[in-house]
Amino acid sequence: MFHPYFPEAYSDFTDPAKKAAYELALAGVRSRFGAAYGLVIDGEWLETGSSIASVNPARPAEVVGTVAAGGVAEAERALQAAWAAFPSWSSRPVEDRARIGVKLAAIMRRNKYELAAIETFEAGKNWLEAEADVAEAIDFVEYYARQAVRLAAPLDIVSVPGEENESHLIPMGAGVVIPPWNFPGAILIGMAMGPVLAGNTIVIKPASNTPVIGVRFMEMVAEAGMPAGVINYVPGSGGAIGDHLVDHPLTRFVNFTGSKEIGLRIAERSAKVAPGQKWLKRAFLEMGGKDAMIVDETADLKAAAADAVRSAFGFQGQKCSAASRLILVSDIYDDVLDRVVAGASSLRIGPPEENFPVGPVISAAQHRSVLAEIDKGRHEGRLVLGGSAVDLDGGWYLEPTIFADVDPGARLAQHEIFGPVLSVIRARDFDDALDIANGTEFGLTGGLYSRDRGRIERARREFHVGNLYINRKITGALVGVQPFGGFNMSGTNSKAGGPDYLRLFMEMKSVAERWVAS
Ligand code: NAP
Repeated sequence: MFHPYFPEAYSDFTDPAKKAAYELALAGVRSRFGAAYGLVIDGEWLETGSSIASVNPARPAEVVGTVAAGGVAEAERALQAAWAAFPSWSSRPVEDRARIGVKLAAIMRRNKYELAAIETFEAGKNWLEAEADVAEAIDFVEYYARQAVRLAAPLDIVSVPGEENESHLIPMGAGVVIPPWNFPGAILIGMAMGPVLAGNTIVIKPASNTPVIGVRFMEMVAEAGMPAGVINYVPGSGGAIGDHLVDHPLTRFVNFTGSKEIGLRIAERSAKVAPGQKWLKRAFLEMGGKDAMIVDETADLKAAAADAVRSAFGFQGQKCSAASRLILVSDIYDDVLDRVVAGASSLRIGPPEENFPVGPVISAAQHRSVLAEIDKGRHEGRLVLGGSAVDLDGGWYLEPTIFADVDPGARLAQHEIFGPVLSVIRARDFDDALDIANGTEFGLTGGLYSRDRGRIERARREFHVGNLYINRKITGALVGVQPFGGFNMSGTNSKAGGPDYLRLFMEMKSVAERWVAS
């Protein structure tokens, strides 16, 4: 019913018309700075008397907007609203639901630069990073609309003589969606629209650092014709309402992306059956990484170094897929290290609004935490670049930081820092490099730069990560092209943007009718 899915193209901002259009979008968002927004329950925008301020990490004195904060009462009402909307939403023909999705994607596409500009201010993403995030959000909606239609078809099972046997997938109920701040458009919208297009209803509890982009999403959801109560939006601190939503007996599933610490907390709490609860909750928990790139002596060293810099320092290293370990075989260690240091030191630091390659980290807390990890790292590795805060407009800037000669077992090589910090590790040879790469509790992304066919094949088999990239950067998974999710402590491997994603939020029902009965 729809044309085949294809990922959104990115803009060339050297084109003066595109540049002017993005600047106009930035000015538009800036003109609304300080506005107050409500939360959304059952299609109604509500004030609560308390709010969360979303600030510009490049100039923390600037408030992008304030959003009403929900407490336990709002969480409760939102879950009730989601269940009230479930019977009619889940029983609508899948084509109707999918059309609302495709309409929503069209609205998002029409407002692409505005959405991206919100992220530039709210999350500190430069133009390309912000646009890529919005493009991914649009891709999720388009792709999942098509997958919903595909999954509605009866399954290919055998009918025995005298009976009709049929199996099909049905939605599960009302769930809770808890995204992180680092892809405030793509992850929030993808984690919401997957379950919703599969016929479920949801309560979104956005990340407290980035609640404004979700407000704009909710306006577009309404414009697309989504019935009230299908998507409810309740900002509030994880501590205040996160546990309540996760523990609630009416929560059918939890769709979470964030840190290992909170993911494990949700795994434990959602496994406990609350009084009155009629099901075992499903919990999808996508967590952190300590992602490695290996470069061997046969590789194109120039390309490898450039992609290592992109993978480590794009969006200030605040991607779950970012390279935080660079594993170099001994023969080319010094050569590649020099190239990577040169590449990273040439990155200019400045406001995302002005499209600098390196912007601020998300918050004062993150700034402190990354600096503390850098300080601990000084005892573990040889600091060859950066290591300090950058004083600019009061923003939370950090220098791209590189530690060399890091031991594979050191904290620098094991603990997720989630900032612009790269640890460079020396390996004896390719075998040693692969052992080091696999030697963490995580297993999200990884990469190999090599021209050796045998090693590439071994990496395909033995590099134990959910998303492996060969001879390219290790970030930027495309919806429908590289289904995304990790192994081990990186999570439950939901494979967002993959053909089975919506299946996670559905149950299979088998029906047998016997024809011979009187
Ligand atoms: P986080 O601190 O774990 O927060 C994630 C979400 O959980 C936020 O909405 C947060 O709300 C909420 N939360 C906090 N405490 C909670 C509780 N007790 N119950 C329920 N929800 C609670 O993670 P983050 O700092 O936003 O994101 C960075 C992390 O996400 C990194 O570890 C990164 O690797 C990971 N990540 C993983 C993927 C992936 O696909 N595997 C993708 C992106 C990011 P508040 O904001 O109100 O605290």
